[in-house]
Amino acid sequence: MIHIEDKRKCVGCNGCASVCPTNCIELRADDEGFFYPVVDVLKCIDCGLCERVCPVLVQDDEREPLSTYAAVNQDNEIRGKSSSGGIFTPLAESVIADGGIVFGAVFNKRWEVVHAAAHNVDELASMRGSKYVQSEIGECYKLAKKYLGEERKVLFTGTPCQIAGLRRYLRKEYSNLICVDIICHGVPSPAVFKTYISEQSKRLGFDIKDIKNINFRDKRNGWHDSRFVCRYVTKLGESDIVQPLSQNLYFKGFIRDLYLRPSCHACPSKKFKSGSDITIADLWGVENITPELDDNQGVSLICINSEIGQYYFNKIKKETKFKKIALTDALEHNQSAYSSAIEHGKRKNFFAAFGKEPFHSIITRLLKRTLLMKIKYRLNNFFKY
Ligand SMILES: Cc1cc2nc3c(=O)[nH]c(=O)nc-3n(C[C@H](O)[C@H](O)[C@H](O)COP(=O)(O)OP(=O)(O)OC[C@H]3O[C@@H](n4cnc5c(N)ncnc54)[C@H](O)[C@@H]3O)c2cc1C
Ligand code: SF4
Ligand code: SF4
Ligand code: SF4
Repeated sequence: MIHIEDKRKCVGCNGCASVCPTNCIELRADDEGFFYPVVDVLKCIDCGLCERVCPVLVQDDEREPLSTYAAVNQDNEIRGKSSSGGIFTPLAESVIADGGIVFGAVFNKRWEVVHAAAHNVDELASMRGSKYVQSEIGECYKLAKKYLGEERKVLFTGTPCQIAGLRRYLRKEYSNLICVDIICHGVPSPAVFKTYISEQSKRLGFDIKDIKNINFRDKRNGWHDSRFVCRYVTKLGESDIVQPLSQNLYFKGFIRDLYLRPSCHACPSKKFKSGSDITIADLWGVENITPELDDNQGVSLICINSEIGQYYFNKIKKETKFKKIALTDALEHNQSAYSSAIEHGKRKNFFAAFGKEPFHSIITRLLKRTLLMKIKYRLNNFFKY
């Protein structure tokens, strides 16, 4: 039976709970706001399935992509709404066009990030854009299995550990499944994000339910200088909070690794171990690699990891502008593909104060930088997320 002693050894994928034949595993949030399995031992029949599907306990081999591309979606409207070059959408649309289902991360009505299924192209809209919060898988693995069994095509997107979890949960290969993961820096705590937006809205005099949209990577100032944008409505009409990422308190804590999930500091799915067919990411360093594609509206890095991945990329090629690039160039500025983020020295202080002190005051206090630190940070800040 699954038992979490070291929190670094659970990615929260929900695979164990999804497979348990007696439904005796429930994922519950801990004090940091991350979800972990809790077993009702009285109902456990000791079948061992939960351990067999766990992507931390059983890991696949490291891989190298078969090929890598720089690409942009030719539909500028869709690309504008996507975080990188907008490659997720044509992949998803091609599966929907074949009567398939797409799984991805969306905001629910309470502005929590959860995985959901899209059955038509309209439902893809809410999946577009990176949400820098851990997404809850819920029933999506079970649902994906059901559709696969009905011989419908399924595109499952998510973090590498979510893809590894799905593949372990399924325990067999399906030719009608395509898995797409992202290069993943790590995921912040859902409770921290919730606290951030509720404090922010209170301070500005509106309610969470008045929020109309949240975009972590708005491109109004260009992709290289993305903005955090929160649109809300009050009696006076619609307003936008617009902040450079360097000034957004939540983003600051995220990129400084103050409140990532513990497993993100010992990630079991780096080095393309997830078993995904395609990995998508931001092509950082594009200005030196393929400057002709860099119009400051976002360029995707596409890593093709399998024949199925190549088949789907070939299908959407005509909707993109692309160029084959070398793997070393592609990943030079994206260390997250290979190494786990290093825990911020003040992570423990953050969570000791979390819930007792306002979020903005903890961040301001903990991330206050001296001039020397500011210079060091700028010099070290080679990559973006
Ligand atoms: C937490 C997180 C960390 C990331 N870290 C890096 C990084 O280190 N380096 C890098 O190059 N790129 C990183 N990315 C990926 C990048 O930001 C883009 O999401 C990716 O390139 C896809 O962009 P797109 O323009 O093709 O499509 P978009 O339409 O922008 O992408 C949406 C896709 O991302 C998925 N997605 C969004 N939020 C989540 C979430 N919380 N959990 C799981 N899946 C999600 C959706 O399901 C959908 O498939 C990260 C994304 C997230 C969410
Ligand atoms: S051992 Fe079997 S019954 Fe017990 S918790 Fe794990 S999956 Fe459920
Ligand atoms: S990593 Fe996934 S399968 Fe393993 S214990 Fe955590 S939630 Fe369960
Ligand atoms: S860094 Fe690794 S463990 Fe953390 S969310 Fe990403 S893939 Fe999962």
